[in-house]
Amino acid sequence: MSMTVLMNAGPWLSVPPPGYGGIENVVATLVPELRRLGVRVVLASVESSTLPVDEKISVFPDGQFHALQRPYNQVCGVSQAHLSGVVRALHSRDDIDLVHDHVEAVGLATMAAMGPDGPPALHTLHWDLAKHPELYGNLDGGDRVRVNGVSASQLARAPRALQEHSVGHVHLSTPLAVGADRRSGADKGDYMIILGRINPGKGQDVGARLARQVGFPLVLAGPVGPYHRPEDLAAAGDEARQNPDVRFFYDHVAPHVDGDLVRWVGTVAGQERDDLLAGARASLFPLRWEEPGGTAVVESLALGTPVVATARGCLPELIEHGRTGLLAGDEEELGDLVLAAGLLDEAECRREAAARFTPAVMAQRYVELYERVRQLALQP
Ligand code: UDP
Repeated sequence: MSMTVLMNAGPWLSVPPPGYGGIENVVATLVPELRRLGVRVVLASVESSTLPVDEKISVFPDGQFHALQRPYNQVCGVSQAHLSGVVRALHSRDDIDLVHDHVEAVGLATMAAMGPDGPPALHTLHWDLAKHPELYGNLDGGDRVRVNGVSASQLARAPRALQEHSVGHVHLSTPLAVGADRRSGADKGDYMIILGRINPGKGQDVGARLARQVGFPLVLAGPVGPYHRPEDLAAAGDEARQNPDVRFFYDHVAPHVDGDLVRWVGTVAGQERDDLLAGARASLFPLRWEEPGGTAVVESLALGTPVVATARGCLPELIEHGRTGLLAGDEEELGDLVLAAGLLDEAECRREAAARFTPAVMAQRYVELYERVRQLALQP
């Protein structure tokens, strides 16, 4: 396949990201597989990105994540400066066959604004968009600009204008799924885990309450707002409460955290994260929001840990009830299912991940979408 794709990962973090970083992780997982399939990749990101690519475009020397705390107009300033750099590059060359854009709203509008002479663009939606239709007002690029979701459920909830421009969905993937069917099972500890940002949507408060009800230990792993370690949060004092996720943690989760039955271990990374996830009896997702893509869900499967979740968002697409996990309609039902997760076969989870959630599967699907978007752009 000979095609040159400009991959726009935005100015916020380097690729791969130094720690947490959703979009940047997806790009870091996708690009090596695309290049294996013969796609030339020009990465629009920040100069400090180390992902091997064919060419880089950047405006900022390193990730501008800190700027997200600044007033809104300054945040937009960073976005616009990055996107002007991308657009300048696009205007000065004619070898880009397609733009694969991951930058929310502004990116899409900018691609659209390039007019009919710009290359076709595919924008990947990463967020739950039902509450933010205003972000996506401008789709003037018409048939040249298309979107894809990270799950069918995310697209079904997206604003109409996006649905009309959709070319389908591509589930997220994880390098942990490669060869997962050939790995032997890890020793399971006596605990469940919730891996993710501590946030009302992810429902750690519900999980902690259930753990206490059924008397089964629960480990909470993930940051609280910008705080990655319990000691950092403690040291931040009252000022930290300005962050809504910190307030949620103190008001609804911390009262259950006793350091014994329910523990918060902060952000885990690398081998420590994988071992903790592989050693859990079940990975819990007591969701209160419509999970758009669920990287932690596919990571759990890849490491042989069944998923027990509220059947919201993408969960029913990723998990087969009774085989790779258990899905509940509500919190009460979730409580009944938690202890039954131990009966599921972890090898089934690993087989499912190896078949459906590898980076190669994701890249193949994106190449098909790239072809489709290019064809649609050529049609009169
Ligand atoms: N993550 C991690 N350490 C933590 C908590 C989360 O490495 O302590 C990772 C997790 O493994 C996953 C990503 O952060 O790769 C979260 O992505 P997901 O799609 O599950 O949730 P999001 O935060 O994007 O809603």
